[in-house]
Amino acid sequence: MLPISYSPRTGQHHHNLRSYKGAVRSEQARWSLLAVLLLFLHDHLSCVTAYTGAAPTHAIAVPSTRSRPGSHPLADLVGSRLDLPWITSSVNSAYGPENRDFHADWFTPALPTQQAPIHALILDDTWTTGARVQSLAHALKIAGASTVAAVVLGRHIDPTYLPAKRLLGVIAGPVFDTTRCAVDADA
Ligand SMILES: [Zn+2]
Repeated sequence: MLPISYSPRTGQHHHNLRSYKGAVRSEQARWSLLAVLLLFLHDHLSCVTAYTGAAPTHAIAVPSTRSRPGSHPLADLVGSRLDLPWITSSVNSAYGPENRDFHADWFTPALPTQQAPIHALILDDTWTTGARVQSLAHALKIAGASTVAAVVLGRHIDPTYLPAKRLLGVIAGPVFDTTRCAVDADA
């Protein structure tokens, strides 16, 4: 799992992640997130594949648990720009949007029937506890995916949470730099 950036609840990135989808969505937020995501994948998808050992063959967005039918807002935003076919997944309605735990039966992805190995790239907007991404990654492996990687636009931070205050202090100084990522930050 590779987060692109921390996303403090009081920050602009968080605002974009909240306002790029929904009935009254912000076009400015959409272009901003799309630019960050595509630039990051251009420069750092190789950092992901260095771990998995294979370039992704398919993309999948973590399905909304708010049961909005149709495609995912992030898949809509990215469209065909990654040149990867999208996998879709059904959602177990037993788990609500506020659920924060791993569930092996939360998602049932529909993998294409093909001989070649499937290397799935999960894309999600916000990582809070990671329960949804981890549940989907598990389901993809069970369904037969050879490798699963995840890239997340924002790692949510609650600034009022005491341990997060120390983190916010550490990351306050450096300006966000798309040439570095969490994998190669120490390089
Ligand atoms: Zn990198």
